[in-house]
Amino acid sequence: PSAYRDKRVIVLGLARSGVSVAKVFHSLGAEVVVNDMKKRELCPEADELTALGISVLCGYHPSDLVTADTALLVKNPGIPYTAAPVQQAIEHGVEIITEVEAAYWLSPAPIIGITGSNGKTTTTTWLGELLTAAGLKPIIAGNIGRPLCEAALEATPEDWLVAELSSFQLKGTNAFRPRIGLLLNLAETHLDYHGGMDDYVASKAKLFVNQTAEDIAVLNWDDPICRRISEGLEAKLLPFSLYERLETGVYVEPPFSREDGSPNAGCEPVARQIVYRSAASEDAKVVVPVDELGIPGRHNVANALAAVAASIAAGAAIERLVEPLRQFKAVEHRLEYVREAGGVKYYNDSKATNPASTMMAIGSLPGKIVLIAGGLDRGSDYMELLPIFRDRLKGLVALGETRGKLARVAELAGLGSVEIAEPVEDAERTLRQAVKQAAALAGPGDIVLLSPACASWDMFASYEQRGRIFKESAHTL
Ligand code: ADP
Repeated sequence: PSAYRDKRVIVLGLARSGVSVAKVFHSLGAEVVVNDMKKRELCPEADELTALGISVLCGYHPSDLVTADTALLVKNPGIPYTAAPVQQAIEHGVEIITEVEAAYWLSPAPIIGITGSNGKTTTTTWLGELLTAAGLKPIIAGNIGRPLCEAALEATPEDWLVAELSSFQLKGTNAFRPRIGLLLNLAETHLDYHGGMDDYVASKAKLFVNQTAEDIAVLNWDDPICRRISEGLEAKLLPFSLYERLETGVYVEPPFSREDGSPNAGCEPVARQIVYRSAASEDAKVVVPVDELGIPGRHNVANALAAVAASIAAGAAIERLVEPLRQFKAVEHRLEYVREAGGVKYYNDSKATNPASTMMAIGSLPGKIVLIAGGLDRGSDYMELLPIFRDRLKGLVALGETRGKLARVAELAGLGSVEIAEPVEDAERTLRQAVKQAAALAGPGDIVLLSPACASWDMFASYEQRGRIFKESAHTL
């Protein structure tokens, strides 16, 4: 990083990570220019930077922003490569990075990088708790909230920088090399930004490209794309897998074998116990029974396996992992248990913004469910929800733009109790009304679940706001 003294460094995008990275390069003596398309009034962070003597240009992209003598362009992950300054940088051959790359340059601590299409925040949070319980010192940052640069500046060689990473962040890395890379799964999302699945997969795979034999790659052996990525890697493989064994307890094949037949280390459930096997020995160590994990659902067993594997790779003792695996509470808005009232349990899964997540949530909970769902209409017909509505729901309360569509699916599924929370003056009152309607449909032993299958922006500022109102309503029933 010291190579940037007196050099022109452009920071594109003035979000929290932009502020953090601008300060870093300024303190290294670089000539930093920050640019954002947003109007100055919408960039409250600008004042802090100008006070430091950093030039901040808001409201437009200057046509001469990226010059031939620019040394570096640090791009906010959300800004597409088609943006004019990024194109200028490409023309001039200027190195383009995201803040994650800069954090790697700066960090004295080894990095655990976590990515995947689903489960990143849950696994990152869980891993943090496992490492702490094992007496290690994790600092959690990245896509989960706190800028990675900020965390890297605070880190010492005794810490572990635990970084949640999006594909957008990874796409802008060059030398980034985590000591432990963890790839959870790969589903077809964000294809518009990446312009196709190949670029998305390649971006995720950047997690591993600079790793050497001293590093470790934890990846999902059940996911065909993860498995394909594993083939060319130099890092030591530490796969995890659910196989069918989670249900059957039947040993199917030597797990995780390499092409030459030699076994890798790995983490898997055998007879409903999470088991870790090291490559050196054939003996498997039982970590914890699957049914004692702190959060429900098959997908969370996969998240637990991944977090256990990464913890062991970081040097955690297995015995220390048992309690935090049992005690873990859901991250807010992700199948979060709220309370019990009149024998009915309330769960907040406001983060479920598509039908797949809602199906996962329903499938993870026992018994009969009264579902509160609906939100922003993106044109889907929600018919894929029909079988699980038929098999698992006792009732549906639909709200938001998609309320009519969801009610129709529920009626086709033969559900007797379908209600619509008609919009009243404000969104908060509508959701409060929906919670009351759901409570009236539920009886002792049932579950009331908010898992909307839709984004929140038709009614709320964010899924967090929607989830908080749901929880308050449940608490005041
Ligand atoms: P992310 O940070 O990747 O968005 P989260 O941990 O916030 O993931 O979980 C978001 C939602 O994704 C959860 O509520 C759940 O529905 C689903 N999910 C979580 N873990 C997995 C997984 N391992 N596989 C598939 N879906 C998952």
